[in-house]
Amino acid sequence: MLIDNHNRRINYLRLAVTDRCNLRCNYCMPAEGINFAKNDKLLTIEELKVLSEILVDQGIDKIRITGGEPFVRKDLMDLLRHLANLEGLKDISVTTNATLIGPYIDELKALGIKNINVSLDAINKATFERITRRDQYDTVHNNLIRLISEGFNVRINFIALDGQNTQDILPVLELAKHYPVSVRFLEEMPFNGGSKSFQKITWDYKHILEHIKKEYPDYYKLDSPKTSTSINYKIPGFKGTFGVIPSFSRTFCGSCNRLRVSATGDVITCLYAKASANLRDIMRGEDSENRVKEQVLKAVGSRAKTGFEAQEKYKDVFSNSMTSIGG
Ligand code: SAM
Ligand code: SF4
Repeated sequence: MLIDNHNRRINYLRLAVTDRCNLRCNYCMPAEGINFAKNDKLLTIEELKVLSEILVDQGIDKIRITGGEPFVRKDLMDLLRHLANLEGLKDISVTTNATLIGPYIDELKALGIKNINVSLDAINKATFERITRRDQYDTVHNNLIRLISEGFNVRINFIALDGQNTQDILPVLELAKHYPVSVRFLEEMPFNGGSKSFQKITWDYKHILEHIKKEYPDYYKLDSPKTSTSINYKIPGFKGTFGVIPSFSRTFCGSCNRLRVSATGDVITCLYAKASANLRDIMRGEDSENRVKEQVLKAVGSRAKTGFEAQEKYKDVFSNSMTSIGG
């Protein structure tokens, strides 16, 4: 079992399988992209399989596949098939922009992978295309509806971006009226590959909740697991639910149970911290299993208690992009 230096059990791995993406969301990276890793610096699918096995053996029982866009990786399903048969792994989920998932929906269902997070930052097509800088709205919308209709447990991630999409907060929330989905509103974080810098945000979770309350004064809070990053609510009469994720306000750090591994093998113990170790060369060398375990134990044993503490120590992490970290 992995226990950190603040006595928190770490059982949730966010595993990035690539840093590339077919969209260019303006809160995530600049229009020209970032300095993407060279192919030989990315963990191969075989390495990702072995690494997952090692980490599950150490006590990880939930893996979220992220990126970049996971489905730009042509061999992703090979990894997912492997994970679906990995003993000890209780929960596999995927975070995606839903542009490329279409051909894989049937197989995902057959594998029993039910939890899919879809990033959708606008319900208006022009706004979507302005934010993502790509013409993919119809594909995303169709895939989203297909995922819901096929019975996946779909959570929609919407980042509230001042001056860009806040007029879409209530319209996107309407999806939860008609469908059994969870619409989650995230605070913007300063990890955008240098697109812009900021010290504070206008649309924090309190502001988002006030905005929703004006339209739906009767919403009420739901119980959520202690380790949940979202605070969840229900509006009477809605089929689905909604939530807010204070990713910039960081109210949830105290019960954090996450470990991140980037597509290049960096071990990241907090979004606001620098990588503690890199596992790629270790994976490619002698005695890799023991050496990986050692590095992971070391990283978990020296975690910052909160994102604020980490930010104090690593002031330059804000030049990172979420496409490298994995969100
Ligand atoms: N491409 C996939 C997607 O967009 O869902 C997975 C990777 S993406 C980096 C993972 C999550 O990070 C997405 O939900 C995205 O909205 C979020 N994200 C990216 N940049 C962000 C930022 N600056 N602030 C807050 N969340 C961000
Ligand atoms: Fe791509 Fe996801 Fe970043 Fe958008 S948020 S650019 S979809 S990695």
